[in-house]
Amino acid sequence: MATLFDRTGKVQGADGAAAAVPPAAGACSNTDELKAAAAKAGKAGMLDQFARDYPVGPHDQPQSMCPAFGSLRVGLRMRRTATILSGSACCVYGLTFTSHFYGAKRSVGYVPFNSETLVTGKLFEDIRDAVHEVARPEDYDAVIVTNLCVPTASGVPLQILPKEINGVRIIGIDVPGFGVPTHAEAKDVLAGAMLRYAAGEIRSGPVARPRTKAELPAVTLLGEMFPADPVIIGRMLAPMGLAAGPVVPTREWRELFAAFDCAAVAAIHPFYTASIREFETAGRAIVGSAPVGHDGTADWLEAIGQACGVPAARRAEAQNAILPAIKGALAQKPIQGRITVSGYEGSELLVARLLIESGADVPYVGTACPRTPWSDADRCWLEARGTHVQYRASLEQDIEAVLDVRPDLAIGTTPVVQKAKALSIPALYFTNLISARPLMGPAGAGSLAQVVMAAIRNKNRFDEMSAFFEGVGAGHAAGIWREVPVDRPEFKKKYAGMLAARAKAEESVGT
Ligand code: SF4
Repeated sequence: MATLFDRTGKVQGADGAAAAVPPAAGACSNTDELKAAAAKAGKAGMLDQFARDYPVGPHDQPQSMCPAFGSLRVGLRMRRTATILSGSACCVYGLTFTSHFYGAKRSVGYVPFNSETLVTGKLFEDIRDAVHEVARPEDYDAVIVTNLCVPTASGVPLQILPKEINGVRIIGIDVPGFGVPTHAEAKDVLAGAMLRYAAGEIRSGPVARPRTKAELPAVTLLGEMFPADPVIIGRMLAPMGLAAGPVVPTREWRELFAAFDCAAVAAIHPFYTASIREFETAGRAIVGSAPVGHDGTADWLEAIGQACGVPAARRAEAQNAILPAIKGALAQKPIQGRITVSGYEGSELLVARLLIESGADVPYVGTACPRTPWSDADRCWLEARGTHVQYRASLEQDIEAVLDVRPDLAIGTTPVVQKAKALSIPALYFTNLISARPLMGPAGAGSLAQVVMAAIRNKNRFDEMSAFFEGVGAGHAAGIWREVPVDRPEFKKKYAGMLAARAKAEESVGT
């Protein structure tokens, strides 16, 4: 039976009867109820798979943007690919706004719904009509349709969309905030779905050749990275008779075929669980970690060489060809200072390794992504140097680390950076300023020093600003006032009591 949210916020069954209590604070935060509704509406298997692929804990969900942004971005970056969203208008507005803010130059299709079309199943018919209209082979290789929270909770069955229309592939995915914890993992939901589809095509017959094909056996690279990084990785692989293969998520459909045509897969970002499953099903070896810094590069080249059956002498040759240059770059651009690192991109552990090899003290690394076998080597290396590694880190844990450690620099998400700057601690935003740089090989070894040291040297400016604004108030009294507002903690206490009493009353009605 399909379920929906009506405008009063109640979840209803297809018969219109109220099925559950109103959501407390909107769909984003009403996880349990949406999960129950989705399971009831036939999506229990999908939720179980999400729970296995993207385990949560120690708390339910890190605070990050709407997860669907990750899969939306992956689809929008692919050539000849159309994207259609099915979800609440406010979610679609936010997602399209953010994607255009980040430079997407494509239109995003939207199939709107109302209570009636959601409950009666007409929404699915509308989606199917939209897909038929959009699937023009002269324009597109694939159409991606994404169910956001409410259509997923209501069981809108994208899995029964036609697999192909006029030769255009149709991919339907559910990316609910109550099943996919981070936008990073949502990239994997779409990448994994496309790889699965492409693997099916490979099994059933000849497929399109890649535009350019490496002469040497290739290593497929898993995870979005700075454009120069695959080139640098290719140079490091060459002495072993290997080349850098496609980067997954890919930029066009035929690269998915090429991704399977590899000697091994390098899980540069460790959270691509569904994608890794597809590669393993195809019999490809997976290698974790990445060629960052001296130790990381040495270990990674060794592991890749072994996975691809490269003789020991050639593995050593590849290491000897690059490691002195990395050591030199690290020594030339040292980093001095104590730094905390937190983010939700999945490359936080790699960045911390590079900082430590450059000379920094990094006592804390928080990542919104989960622990997987593919980051184990990085975790062990960091822990051996006294770094606390926090998987599925919450904002509170990241901020607590900054308060505890009082670093010379806090690298983190926007709210962490904001908090650090308010404490006169220099801070850099991980996504825009750190992960948008080369990290691999000799280029990576020197790339962080400039931005990191410039930020650390700015400490006196923060102190000057703090001194300048000293006395203008904080919290409820922030700002310049004729009459400083009076805090009324008793109001908050009263509301907290009323909320607790209401929760208790509802609990007893339910028993
Ligand atoms: S689709 Fe995203 S923004 Fe909308 S309710 Fe779900 S998690 Fe929140």
